[in-house]
Amino acid sequence: MFFNRNPTKKIVRKIVPNLYYFAEFPMLDCNMYVLVDESSGKFCLIDTGNGKSLSGFKKSIHEIGLNMENLASIIITHEHLDHILGLYSILEENDISSLNIYVAPFTNQILKQGNEQRICPRELGISADVFGVKIKPLTNLIEVHEGETINFGSFTLDVLETPGHSKGSITLFDKSHKILFPGDVVFPQGSFGRYDFPGGDLQKLKLSIKRLSDLQAEILCSGHMSPVLQNAALQIQLSYRNISSLTY
Ligand SMILES: [Zn+2]
Repeated sequence: MFFNRNPTKKIVRKIVPNLYYFAEFPMLDCNMYVLVDESSGKFCLIDTGNGKSLSGFKKSIHEIGLNMENLASIIITHEHLDHILGLYSILEENDISSLNIYVAPFTNQILKQGNEQRICPRELGISADVFGVKIKPLTNLIEVHEGETINFGSFTLDVLETPGHSKGSITLFDKSHKILFPGDVVFPQGSFGRYDFPGGDLQKLKLSIKRLSDLQAEILCSGHMSPVLQNAALQIQLSYRNISSLTY
C-alpha cells in the first residue's frame, strides 16, 4: 500500500503501457483504473470511487496528460457505493449521452431505479449525502453479460459474471495482457471479498473465485489494495484455498 502524502490527490502508478492505477482514499473509496486509447487520446475508467474522491482523481489524471474531457467510457464492476457514487459526480459535469457506461444487468436495475436505499443499504448507516452525491435514476446505460467483450484501445476485456461478493459483480479479463479486474471478488495475498452484505453469497463467491483462479492471470487489479504485477494466479489460487476452508 502506498502512503498518500497529499490526500487531495490520488496516487497514480503505471501498470503496463496505457493502463494506470489510481489508489483508493482511506475512507470507503475504491481503486480506479484508467485505460488509454493511444490513437484517440481518450480514456476508459474502471470504477468511479465514492464521489468525494473524484476531485482527487481529476487532479491526478493531469499527471498522465489527461483531463475529464478525454473520458469516453466507464465500466462499473459492481453496485456498491464505494464503486458507483462517483458516477453521479461525473454526470453532474458530463452529458450521459457522450459516455459509454457499461454495467451488469443487476447494477443497471439498481441505477435505473435511483433508489438510495438499494445503493446505500441501511446496514452501512451511511447516506450518499455524506459524499456530496445526489442519487437520481440513470437511463441509457449499456448492459454487459457473461461472454461479451468490451474493446478499448489495445485492450479486449472479456466480461465474466462473478457473483458472491454482490449480486451484480462482474470481472473483466484481458486475455492477451493477462490482466484481471475482479472488482471486490478477490484481493491480493489470498484474501477475498466480503459476502455478508445484501446480495452476498459465500457459495457463489467460492465458485467465482475458482473460475478466476483458473485464468492464469499475471496482473491483478482489484477494487482495493495495491495491484499485483506478476504471478497473480498464485495469489488467486491461495484465495481459493482460503475461501474453500470456510463453511457456513
Ligand atoms: Zn464491494
